[in-house]
Amino acid sequence: MAEQGKQFGPEYVRAISPYVAGKPIAEVAREFGLDEAKIVKLASNENPLGMPESARTAMAAAIGELGRYPDANGFELKAALSARYDVPADWLTLGNGSNDILEIAAHALVKPGESIVYAEYSFAVYALATQEVGARAIEVKARDYGHDLHAMAAAIAPDTRLVFIANPNNPTGTFLPAAEIERFLAKVPADVVVVLDEAYNEYLDAEQQYESVSWVRKYPNLLVSRTFSKAYGLAGLRVGYAVAQPALTDLLNRIRQPFNVNSMAQAAAVAALGDAAFLRKSAELNREGKAQLVAAFDRLGLQYVPSSGNFVLVRVGDDDDAGARINLALLKQGVIVRPVGNYKLPQWLRVTIGLPEENEAFIKALEAALQ
Ligand SMILES: *Cc1c(COP(=O)(O)O)cnc(C)c1O
Repeated sequence: MAEQGKQFGPEYVRAISPYVAGKPIAEVAREFGLDEAKIVKLASNENPLGMPESARTAMAAAIGELGRYPDANGFELKAALSARYDVPADWLTLGNGSNDILEIAAHALVKPGESIVYAEYSFAVYALATQEVGARAIEVKARDYGHDLHAMAAAIAPDTRLVFIANPNNPTGTFLPAAEIERFLAKVPADVVVVLDEAYNEYLDAEQQYESVSWVRKYPNLLVSRTFSKAYGLAGLRVGYAVAQPALTDLLNRIRQPFNVNSMAQAAAVAALGDAAFLRKSAELNREGKAQLVAAFDRLGLQYVPSSGNFVLVRVGDDDDAGARINLALLKQGVIVRPVGNYKLPQWLRVTIGLPEENEAFIKALEAALQ
């Protein structure tokens, strides 16, 4: 018989606080006695257009093959990505979402006790990946809610193996111009891997865009991570990918699950990658929705962080209960956004940019909640 009160697993695993996801629509409907159809979910940075029609068609064609294992090497998707970025297939790693890529990198590169550098207010999965492998977190103070790359370069310790950078960052939406990242890459020791997480890259304005894959050609210690979950509208399928030189890619390939991306996801991602019209429409809708939200925040006198992603971080009060209180008031009105108290931002909420009518419903509910 098991000893009473016996604790399993290493201390560094027991210390992990599990990831808090956006509340599902069905759960909010149940909890607050609301009609599911009237609930507006702006909590997980999903594409408000849903999945592209091209992906739906590709999945319908792939459904008959589900009795078989997926292609473990993702031949077609890698071929499509390879053509897109002009890199060989052995520079590519596919992931079960880019979340998978971030974790694979930590497992492949970092031993317990070694350190990982990331920024305050940056994506929660960096802290999780660090804890999962028993590594030491070096969390670097943010500057204006974004990454302070000077301080991050200075924080790299002799035992640092990995640095996570999100550009744009989630949950703050801050953006690092290309020149700043280039200066940073030039300073990082060659034995420290930099993961440049570009989950929102496809939403960047024309004047912000840069060629991170050209940096991958120059730096064997750089890994660029992207996803099909956001602008491509395939969050539920879980597909992401990494671009890195072959030595680093080979290492990731040893750690990943052999069948980490399922066949429906592979087929849908190939179709979505080729769907330039859907991507353009998504970016356009996002630009308009962002203007709609920030105009309302200005009118209401609310502070927000200028965002380069598909969400905006807004400060809804001065006290440390403000985020939770306004969030509850929004939930009661059927609007789901993301409280960010777990990011040490208890006065703020993160709102995903939705369809114009969803944004409007949120703004109305917010005004009511603030009174
Ligand atoms: C959403 C997000 C991801 C990962 O999303 P996946 O669905 O796992 O691809 C990675 N990084 C950041 C900064 C994100 O916001």
